[in-house]
Amino acid sequence: MPELPEVETVRRVLLNDLIGLKIEDVIIKYDRIIDCDKSYFISNIKNKTFTDIKRRGKYLIFCLNEGYLISHLRMEGKYFYLNKELDNKHIHVIFNLSNGYKLMYQDTRKFGRMIYLDGDIYNKEPLNKLGYDPILDGSYDLDLIYKKIISKKIEIKTVLLNQEIITGLGNIYVDEVLFSSHINPLRLANSLNKEEVKAILDSSIKILNDAIINKGTTIRSYTSSLGVEGNYQNFLNVHTKSECPHCKMNIIRVKIKGRMTYYCKNCQR
Ligand SMILES: [Zn+2]
Repeated sequence: MPELPEVETVRRVLLNDLIGLKIEDVIIKYDRIIDCDKSYFISNIKNKTFTDIKRRGKYLIFCLNEGYLISHLRMEGKYFYLNKELDNKHIHVIFNLSNGYKLMYQDTRKFGRMIYLDGDIYNKEPLNKLGYDPILDGSYDLDLIYKKIISKKIEIKTVLLNQEIITGLGNIYVDEVLFSSHINPLRLANSLNKEEVKAILDSSIKILNDAIINKGTTIRSYTSSLGVEGNYQNFLNVHTKSECPHCKMNIIRVKIKGRMTYYCKNCQR
């Protein structure tokens, strides 16, 4: 599943390819990928030009000369940018571009979603629900984020996966951030102290930055379609691992809300 570093990597690659290109046609092969009225989507995107690509959390924001195409890759979504159409039943949306190339959206699980939005998009769903972005937002309000975290009486892992307080972390990076912060993922969020919340924030900034430098993580659940292979899988400390790199004890594997979670019982309290 692409998380912040993988989405940021997609953004950077597509930014090189798409800016200045006009969308001459939009072909939708599987309607449910489009999370707004299909004809509204097509009529607002057709004949627009890509002017920028931004990101917030795990959302890609394609800026058009008027309005925005918002895209969430969810589990398996990926883009191909090629000068020929792929003969592939998992390609669900095709954008024909003014240079003869095609931007194709593939999604084997069909969970990804796209919408067209205009106006003040950051105050509209889904972007208005997103919390602090550790890469975009820089400095953080520790008191505010601490208050939000201790208002939750559920596992800290679940709170961090939720995106409403901190956005961008998914299953892999939550495990890594909690390992780096010495916090057990099963701890209830309302049991954390302010220093622990600060450790989560500082670890999120560091780990996500390191992962972006390494172009994300390439593991079974997510591989690149744009010719960029991530290397951060070589730097994971706990996710998918069997032995703690610090104390050498066995890593515990447990499902939290259906997501396989890895942690060291000795180093994470
Ligand atoms: Zn350990």
